[in-house]
Amino acid sequence: MTVSIDIPADAARLLAAPVNHLIDGADVASASGATFPTLDPSNGEVLAQVSTGTAEDVDLAVAAARRALRGPWKDMTPGERGKILWKIADLIEERTDEFAVLESLDTGKSVTIARAVDVPLVVEWFRYFAGWPSKLEGATIPVTAPAGPGKYHAYTRREPVGVVGAIIAWNFPLLLVSWKLAPALAAGNTVVLKPAEQTPLTASLFGQVLRDAGVPDGVVNIVHGDGPGVGAPLVAHPDVDKISFTGSTEVGKEIVRAAAGNLKKVTLELGGKSPNIIFADADLAEAIPGAANAIFFNQGEACTAGSRLFVHTDVYDEVVAGLAEIARGLKVGRGMDVDTVIGPVVSDQQLERVLGYLQSGADEGARVVTGGGRHGDVGYFVEPTILADTRPGMRVVDEEIFGPVLTVQRFESTEEVIEAANATAYGLAGGIWTKDLARAHAVAAELRAGSVWINSYNVLDPALPFGGYKQSGWGREHGVAVFDSYTETKTVVVPIPLH
Ligand code: NAD
Repeated sequence: MTVSIDIPADAARLLAAPVNHLIDGADVASASGATFPTLDPSNGEVLAQVSTGTAEDVDLAVAAARRALRGPWKDMTPGERGKILWKIADLIEERTDEFAVLESLDTGKSVTIARAVDVPLVVEWFRYFAGWPSKLEGATIPVTAPAGPGKYHAYTRREPVGVVGAIIAWNFPLLLVSWKLAPALAAGNTVVLKPAEQTPLTASLFGQVLRDAGVPDGVVNIVHGDGPGVGAPLVAHPDVDKISFTGSTEVGKEIVRAAAGNLKKVTLELGGKSPNIIFADADLAEAIPGAANAIFFNQGEACTAGSRLFVHTDVYDEVVAGLAEIARGLKVGRGMDVDTVIGPVVSDQQLERVLGYLQSGADEGARVVTGGGRHGDVGYFVEPTILADTRPGMRVVDEEIFGPVLTVQRFESTEEVIEAANATAYGLAGGIWTKDLARAHAVAAELRAGSVWINSYNVLDPALPFGGYKQSGWGREHGVAVFDSYTETKTVVVPIPLH
């Protein structure tokens, strides 16, 4: 019997009221009064009504963020800012069930995974960055020119960039909030956040947590709505200093063009088509489930998904058979059923997109080992799919599908697989499975990707830099590296005469 999770009372209250913007500490409807529905992807039913933001709401939010840069937020000590970040983590942890349920309802993902993975990671992210405000050090630097050594005292300060516009995707809505806000706030910035229009719910609950944690009004503002209505005015806004974007490569390119107006700083976390390589000597008992998890985690709606699998010809048949057995056993169902592994994809648009790729794979000659179509006829479910004997040039190999679809191709030599793995416009991540660690490190050095996992996959941590080569992005998130893009470095020089 399938056991489903009940909706906690606080989460039910959030669903019953209109989901509004958070501007200058106040819960406000759109200036236009318009709303849009957010839907349950398991059945297409309306979950809640959400305020539809426009440029007018963005203006108010940016003005509030600009004012807040000069207010109590600026006067706080780094220690006080750190305590607020830690408090955010505590409050999210206390409300884990609420966050997990809303995330599952809105995205379709498994509530069990949201509770065990998404929400605990968010908590870890805020705790890690709570330690950083007091560690953003400058340097003292010896000056040689023009008057010789010892005549000047020079030092650097790490200052906030200013008002940050954070625009995020729908696949890990709350986790992406933490990826943007934890470092931005640690560095003393203020933020206007635009959640994905498909998944506004956990960002709204997060807004309540901010107030309870003591974040001053206007430091974080949240404006709901779609890309053209809210994202584009935010990117074009002359009073925004930086855009931090997570989403598709296509929209990333639009953002670069639109940000040119005031040359605001831009960092981009974009799409991927990551290679996962199984060598003949790999421990297949680890590699086969590892490769399955690399693609099927979160229904394949992961930017790092190991979606192009390369298998050495000696173990190819065994690996494909093992993967097919796992894929057939994955429980497809509503995210709110506790035993679900594969929930629906996020929207009917995404369903059509993924089904279109499945059709193109079949048309282009891929061998459908398992899956290959829609699951059921209610909701946006896709069968976990394995397409074998694929080759470059097929759309399913070259383009990001962002669904539970794995392509598999065989290889013979290490040189050949390195070349094939790198034959992509993307460069976000990659995986290597082998017992020969010298070879693993040699191949890791050759992969043109921002993260490489050896005998593992998708190991993400707030301390580890993360980001894309090539068309997977600009800049790095997490760890100390993220502060390169959330701070400005100011050099201060003063003469120091001896008398
Ligand atoms: P998307 O690019 O369509 O939308 C992302 C966000 O941008 C949404 O909030 C959307 O409203 C907004 N947007 C759309 N048009 C805009 C415009 N013209 N100006 C400003 N904002 C605009 O992407 P998606 O479909 O929501 O997400 C899937 C994509 O995100 C995939 O390509 C995936 O790989 C990528 N992604 C990357 C990472 C990463 O860390 N690298 C993480 C998650 C998802």
